[in-house]
Amino acid sequence: MGGKGKKRCAKCGKRIKKGGVAYWLKAELISAFDGYIYSDEKTDLKDFIDKVNIELEGQSPEKIEEQIYKKFGYLVCAGCRDELDRLLDAGKD
Ligand SMILES: [Zn+2]
Repeated sequence: MGGKGKKRCAKCGKRIKKGGVAYWLKAELISAFDGYIYSDEKTDLKDFIDKVNIELEGQSPEKIEEQIYKKFGYLVCAGCRDELDRLLDAGKD
């Protein structure tokens, strides 16, 4: 996290000049939990909840939230923008 005023491309680190062209890359990662909880005869709901509680124990609410929902905001230069554009384009069917 750099000094104030001096913006850098999050991808290549190039300085983005004052008044220069830059782009915000914004993305969201959201957990695709479909509401289905796996269970069989051996696992009742109480056991499942206990297991989840143990897994989440000691983790900060921020950390837990991060696993479910994460939002990105990166400033990138024009060159990296074009590169990302190509990359996303190539991923299309
Ligand atoms: Zn760049």
